[in-house]
Amino acid sequence: MQAFAQEGVALNESTPLQNLERLAQETQGLQPDSAVKWQARAELRPRAGVDDDVWLHLAAEATVPLTCQRCMGVVETPVEVDQWYRFVATEDIAMAEDDQSEEDLLVMEPQFDLLAVLEDELLMALPLVPMHEQCPVTPKLQVGEADMAAEPDSGKKPNPFAVLAQLKVKK
Ligand SMILES: [Zn+2]
Repeated sequence: MQAFAQEGVALNESTPLQNLERLAQETQGLQPDSAVKWQARAELRPRAGVDDDVWLHLAAEATVPLTCQRCMGVVETPVEVDQWYRFVATEDIAMAEDDQSEEDLLVMEPQFDLLAVLEDELLMALPLVPMHEQCPVTPKLQVGEADMAAEPDSGKKPNPFAVLAQLKVKK
């Protein structure tokens, strides 16, 4: 990471959403070619008396197919990440400095996993309750709507199979 920062080059990558397993689990109808476009750039910032700080900027853009909590259809949700991080040497320093730092802190580790950081940010950027601004008309699935509207803040995803079971009974 230090060398990466010294070179000052930006990484421009595209990573299939399927490769980000935790994120992929949140999606519905993920296309094989769905990808997150991301850019990472590190830089050194001098600090008096000590080694230069290594900072990292991460920016990403993706469109993630989530389950609309009103109609249970797929809602293509744009997700963006734009975040600065500062590297610190140890977990202890990160814990100690986290409160007074506006930027996020990352621990400098040999096995530092940039994709895991990217995935964390994307997961945090997902809406809690994904929903169409206006749901497409899908009469078949609207039976479950009343139940779902009753507890909009539960944050719990209705089980799609439960909804299907309900439809069966009411037919
Ligand atoms: Zn919807």
